Amino acid sequence: DRLSNKIAAGEVVERPASIVKELVENALDAGSKHIEVYVEDSGLRLIRVIDDGAGMDREDATKAFERHATSKVKNEYDLFRIETLGFRGEALASIAAVSKVQMTTSTGQVGTYVEIHGGEFQQVDGAPARKGTDFQVSQLFYNTPARLKHMKSLQTELGHCIDLVNRLAFSHPEVSFKLVSDGKPIVETTGRNDQLRNIASIYGIQIAQKMVAFQAENQDYRIKGYVSLPEVTRANRNYMTFLINRRWVKSYAIQQAVLDSMHTFLPIGRFPIVVLEITTDPQLTDVNVHPSKQQVRLGKEASLLQLIRDTIRRAVQERVT
Ligand code: ADP
Ligand code: MG
Repeated sequence: DRLSNKIAAGEVVERPASIVKELVENALDAGSKHIEVYVEDSGLRLIRVIDDGAGMDREDATKAFERHATSKVKNEYDLFRIETLGFRGEALASIAAVSKVQMTTSTGQVGTYVEIHGGEFQQVDGAPARKGTDFQVSQLFYNTPARLKHMKSLQTELGHCIDLVNRLAFSHPEVSFKLVSDGKPIVETTGRNDQLRNIASIYGIQIAQKMVAFQAENQDYRIKGYVSLPEVTRANRNYMTFLINRRWVKSYAIQQAVLDSMHTFLPIGRFPIVVLEITTDPQLTDVNVHPSKQQVRLGKEASLLQLIRDTIRRAVQERVT
């Protein structure tokens, strides 16, 4: 019902960037190759995500806004080996509860247009049959003023959106991403499945030229990525991206392993730029710890941390000495 949607929205929809995350993850789950994100007023006025993925037919287009209407988990077994990004089936219901949504979607056959304000369907109609989905979220939190008051400055909220698109671009180098804010292009990646090229698009060519490649594996984990030379550091940790099975995660332990591996080179209070991709059997990871799916619990974590420390230390040492 509407109230529980509004309550649940508090969990899923914390700020504009959380909506961008859900919409882009849906686009990725739909197999999109090109994803464009437009925000106005840092997403508070408008968030628009256009993808070229599988789209939805008319029935799915309306069902998608029902709570737990996920098409991605068919049984309990699936829940423990999640490979798609979304799986709880509550994002769209939650987003629609606290904004005005206009969605045009098509599987390539007929198209469908859906408009929902504060969780109430306004209109369901035919639309052009361009394959993919165009999802617009306007006037975020217009009906939950308390939440609107919680927003930080526009600058901060935009920063979160940019950060998020960057991480999604890193986790999906085979997809091209574009982020435009108030008409200004902010990020644009090539989608040519080349992480170094991604680093160049996101952090600049100068930085890409100062990155050291590394790669290694043990019985349980495979790691690869790029780390910046000690001469290129940052004053905060935001430039460290960790991906497990192509999902962006936050992990204090992994971060610490990376810093340990470089501690003899890093000036105090400085942090490297890192993109670290970890691949492992999904059975070894548990991403169900928090609804944002950003925290992760790892089996055999010690062996992963050791692998990271050894590999990065060696790669940097070779380039520095
Ligand atoms: P979840 O992603 O957890 O399944 P959501 O509420 O995010 O739940 O989305 C509900 C359903 O709507 C998805 O399972 C999917 O079938 C459909 N859907 C949402 N966004 C898209 C999209 N961009 N392209 C195709 N299908 C989509
Ligand atoms: Mg989803």
